[in-house]
Amino acid sequence: MMLKLKAPSLLRSQIFVDGRWLDDKSAPAIEVRNPSGGEIVGAVPRAGRDATRRAIEAADAAYKGWSRTTAEHRARVLRRWYELMLEHQDDLAAIMTAEQGKPLAEAKGEIGYAASYIEWFAEEAKRTYGDVVPSPWADKQILVKREPVGVCAAITPWNFPAAMITRKVAPALAAGCTIIVKPAEQTPLSALALAALAERAGVPPGVLNVITGTAREIGAELTNNPTVRKLSFTGSTEIGRLLASQCAPTLKRLSLELGGNAPFIVFDDADVDAAVEGAIASKYRNSGQTCVCANRLLVQEGIHDAFVAKLSIAVKALKVGDGRDADVQQGPLIDDAALDKVLTLLDDAVGKGARIAAGGARHRLGGTFFEPTVVAEVTPEMRIANEEIFGPVAPIMRFRSEDEAIAIANSSEFGLASYFYSRDIARVWRVADAIQAGMVGINTGIISTAVAPFGGVKQSGMGREGSRLGIEEYMHTKYMCIGGL
Ligand code: ADP
Repeated sequence: MMLKLKAPSLLRSQIFVDGRWLDDKSAPAIEVRNPSGGEIVGAVPRAGRDATRRAIEAADAAYKGWSRTTAEHRARVLRRWYELMLEHQDDLAAIMTAEQGKPLAEAKGEIGYAASYIEWFAEEAKRTYGDVVPSPWADKQILVKREPVGVCAAITPWNFPAAMITRKVAPALAAGCTIIVKPAEQTPLSALALAALAERAGVPPGVLNVITGTAREIGAELTNNPTVRKLSFTGSTEIGRLLASQCAPTLKRLSLELGGNAPFIVFDDADVDAAVEGAIASKYRNSGQTCVCANRLLVQEGIHDAFVAKLSIAVKALKVGDGRDADVQQGPLIDDAALDKVLTLLDDAVGKGARIAAGGARHRLGGTFFEPTVVAEVTPEMRIANEEIFGPVAPIMRFRSEDEAIAIANSSEFGLASYFYSRDIARVWRVADAIQAGMVGINTGIISTAVAPFGGVKQSGMGREGSRLGIEEYMHTKYMCIGGL
């Protein structure tokens, strides 16, 4: 079934290199399927090393010109790209829902969110100030300026097919860098549609390139090629480690946004209804397929039963279905592997004594649809308490004291997002301080915005995206000492 778009030219089936749309017939195309019904939505080239090398050469050639444009010029081009995204929000959302499965309303929301990174970095482009440092020498001046790092590479996942690209590309372009993007094989169409709009916005040839194809081959070239000076990756910790090791011989700069195991702690003094609402937003958005999704709900014993009961009622009311249907709140999981993982983790938990309080099984719609699930009496030995679930399953653990909750929350190799609910101001400060995470949501389940720094500690990665820090990831510092004055 072909997608019906107002601007059909947004649906692309070629890679974008050096400002040109190219085929790559060296291997059979990648078919893009809708996870809701399995039908083919499009096809893109299965490009490999050669195309990647050409894209790197194009990005290198374009760098000279782009890095010398004024910040004001880059800001204007980015601003135009942002406006075009909003103009085409419906089409971009339709493409996203078709290839990713998320409900149309969420897809539209993501396009707005993705565009907001471009708007933000269009503004930040003009504020990459340096310093004039008071000199210890009477005859010398010390100046510090910020420069773009050069040619960059971005490798992005399927769960946010647009936002994970714009939060890397926008700061790179704003800083004066050029970039090659390799989107996830499940969701290349959103990436190519963004490139089509960037082209229309006036991003010059070679400044932004998008290559679809064999991840391992493209990744090998992007990481080995000495011309690439920086890699920004969002995805699994396993692949992040691999890419970091591949970048080591050429010592590329790295931004890594990897897995999480977000604790969501509800203390006895919390507003239970607010906590349930926050848990629904944090856990079930994108059917649980975000790296900041609550992965372990720790609930204090005094409020535990009320919270489980209210959450279960709310979860049972979530409408599951094809993301294109108007009132659907939960789409399918991305693929069979995702479904298998959820089933395995649940089996392990139930086998070790956990209790299903809502859902718990594949949805009657079949395919990769899964019932939104609440599982109670989860304990730290269960796999579900330690691994990223990436599905609509909320495991609930009971705890007694604040210290115990913090100890459980911090007993993870990950440290991306964390959340807790409390109305005690002293506790709010204590717990926020003690939690080992890059981000802490306090009395809220939604924390992502372009203006705040997104990123993790421990094995959740390094670097920050968004905020005024986001552009620094794409700049290095040059110190100039002017003598003989
Ligand atoms: P997920 O489990 O979310 O698919 P991955 O880390 O496997 O997470 O994928 C995130 C991105 O990394 C995708 O674009 C994927 O194609 C890419 N990727 C996976 N394996 C490699 C690899 N060996 N080299 C480079 N990129 C890879």
